[in-house]
Amino acid sequence: MQDNKDIPKAKILIVDDNEKNLYAMESVLKSVHANIYLASDGKEALKLVLRHDFALIFLDVQMPEMDGYEVAKCLKQNQSSHNIPIIFVTAISYQQKNILEGYQSGGVDYLMKPIEPSILIAKTNIFIQLYESKAKLKETISKLNQIASTDPLTGLPNRNQFNLFFNKLLAMHQRHNHQFALLLLDLDNFKAVNDLHGHDTGDKLLIAVAKRLMACVRQSDHVARIGGDEYTILLPQIQNVNDVNTVAKNLLHSFAKSFVINKHPFKITTSIGIAFYPHAGRSTEGIFKAADIALYKAKEQGRNCFIHFSGPLNKIYQRQLRIERDLPQAIQNKEISISYQPRHDLQTNKITGAEILARWHHPKLGNISPVEFINIAETSGHIYTLGCQIINEAFDQIAKWQKKFGKLFLHFSFNLSVHQLFDMQFHHDLQSLADQYNINLHDIEIELTESVFSSDVEKLDAMLQNLHQLGVRCSIDDFGTGYSCISRLKLLPIQILKIDQSFIQHIHKSSDDDAIIKAIIALATSLKFRIIAEGIENKEQLLFLQKHGCHEAQGYYYAKPLIASEFENYYQKQIKR
Ligand code: C2E
Ligand code: MG
Ligand code: MG
Repeated sequence: MQDNKDIPKAKILIVDDNEKNLYAMESVLKSVHANIYLASDGKEALKLVLRHDFALIFLDVQMPEMDGYEVAKCLKQNQSSHNIPIIFVTAISYQQKNILEGYQSGGVDYLMKPIEPSILIAKTNIFIQLYESKAKLKETISKLNQIASTDPLTGLPNRNQFNLFFNKLLAMHQRHNHQFALLLLDLDNFKAVNDLHGHDTGDKLLIAVAKRLMACVRQSDHVARIGGDEYTILLPQIQNVNDVNTVAKNLLHSFAKSFVINKHPFKITTSIGIAFYPHAGRSTEGIFKAADIALYKAKEQGRNCFIHFSGPLNKIYQRQLRIERDLPQAIQNKEISISYQPRHDLQTNKITGAEILARWHHPKLGNISPVEFINIAETSGHIYTLGCQIINEAFDQIAKWQKKFGKLFLHFSFNLSVHQLFDMQFHHDLQSLADQYNINLHDIEIELTESVFSSDVEKLDAMLQNLHQLGVRCSIDDFGTGYSCISRLKLLPIQILKIDQSFIQHIHKSSDDDAIIKAIIALATSLKFRIIAEGIENKEQLLFLQKHGCHEAQGYYYAKPLIASEFENYYQKQIKR
């Protein structure tokens, strides 16, 4: 233990009014592993104790002015010195009752004069060892605390530490009625850096970002990395909104200069959500949620910007809470229904299938878009139950139609959330529902958005292979809005691309969009994908797509999403044509 460099050398204090005794003891103790301090009276001793952390004090009992027992009592009363072991030094002729008084005043041992060097050394060593063990324990605890509270990559406080600090700050501001701000940062498109340049580069970028953030804030501000590419900054003692805006602008500005990693310049930006205490909430969860909503809004507004949590945003938040709260019951009460949107072959104009779309008519809020509630069902963990219910209802309906019309020659497609896709139970349920309703899974398709590529590609491949073996076809929905690369898609069992409606709506409005659609169709057909255009609304769009070789189309031009009875009529009319 003696060669442990992190532990400071023990300090020992000898207090005696007799100089000869002082130096005699000091010279004996030269052989121990400690620094020796000397004091010739009680007052001097107390002064030294204020400045040093002693492992042991030898205290002469008989001293003029303040005797050893008085000094000991003072030390015991003081918070910082009450744990220091004291050994009284006294003449051998000392009375038994006085010795007891010494223990009562806080001494742990006695040493009799004349002092026997070997006893002095032995006793001292015991206390040095005790001191060193305590110091080592203290150090280990502080290291453990550091590990538990520090992000090992950037050295910034981690989520634990952030939460602790946040709670402390909140308690303090509640007492003093001051305001503070929470800034939540999320790097824009950081995933692309990881994907294109590897995790090592990604890690280095995260470290560089941490440094830049630190350089933008004051000492009293608290920067933390709370996960992947998410950072938080707490700004205590805010006078007004402008202060925070200045910080936020500086932060955005600091990203303007490229980050140089492995001699490569990287351009990256960040989005920032800002929430104030007490305006945005009075609890840590409330304020955090508010900053998160503002961040989400900042992403939606095109990234590389900051947004304050505000009244209107609060309305959105309250609505989300309401939807989240009502969703489980809506699922249970089967308030969520389905509609069928037909799709057609662009060459023959025949109906080829239908997309199943979820519908929720809320008793108070009216119709809620699936864009809104599916997202909430995903984050609140209800998507699985809801997804199965939708499939169950659709299969039940399809089975009824099969009884009525015989084989339908239609493909039915379901929008699938990643959570469902990655759950093996879903694969089993799909198979058993198909068995139960006598549905041929070759007639079934699933639609996935490009966001699935942000998950583990090997796992994704395994899941898709499994569906492929069941006979299910897979399509990429809203194709063109993400950044998946067509040739990479070809490595996975994916057969269909659904071109996003935003492209279709720009047909003949912008020559760039026309060129993009033509290129997508040409490339996708050469790679043997089946191509479906979404959201076609007029004849011009239809003719353009037909001319350039798109296979199928779906949109208001044919029909809006229809309830089961409407779809049945539509189907009957179509097959009679
Ligand atoms: P999506 O899968 O891309 O569905 C197409 C959306 O475009 C549907 O909106 C549809 O009503 C709308 N649409 C169809 N034709 C046209 C058109 O000609 N013009 C215009 N302007 N819009 C058209 P909807 O039903 O509101 O669904 C929105 C999104 O919600 C869907 O996008 C899908 O991502 C998601 N969604 C819907 N149902 C489900 C579901 O059961 N499960 C999951 N996971 N997601 C679902
Ligand atoms: Mg879809
Ligand atoms: Mg779509």
